[in-house]
Amino acid sequence: MSAVFATGKCLCGAVTFTLHGPPVGTGQCHCKDCQRASGTGHMSLARFKTEDVDMSGETASFAVTADSGNVNTRHFCPKCGSRLYGENSAFPGIKNISVGCVDDNNWFVAGRVVYAKDRPAWDVTPTDIPNFDRMPP
Ligand SMILES: [Zn+2]
Ligand SMILES: [Zn+2]
Repeated sequence: MSAVFATGKCLCGAVTFTLHGPPVGTGQCHCKDCQRASGTGHMSLARFKTEDVDMSGETASFAVTADSGNVNTRHFCPKCGSRLYGENSAFPGIKNISVGCVDDNNWFVAGRVVYAKDRPAWDVTPTDIPNFDRMPP
């Protein structure tokens, strides 16, 4: 495995992770599922290759079929509820890491905004980067 890029953990610390190598993509998602799962207006996600993600500790998961028809499985800590990462059936081999769980996340810069059609008026994300009303193909 390559060098350590970042480390992170859930709120209670039962699940910890190490990320190797830089993310292969970044974005903010405003879909209603992410709003419900996060409790706020969007989720900030960084995509890493599965082999670059080293998770330790048990996670529970919940799978939803999105309007795209893809199955989005969200993994969270069964003890404290922190949402740690997601996997999408359309992107095998990729884990979407919840940037808020990363210890030092100042490197994060959103590359795109998805489900911009569901962006609440009170939640601000960049409009000077590609914005998509749904998940782009
Ligand atoms: Zn926890
Ligand atoms: Zn979403």
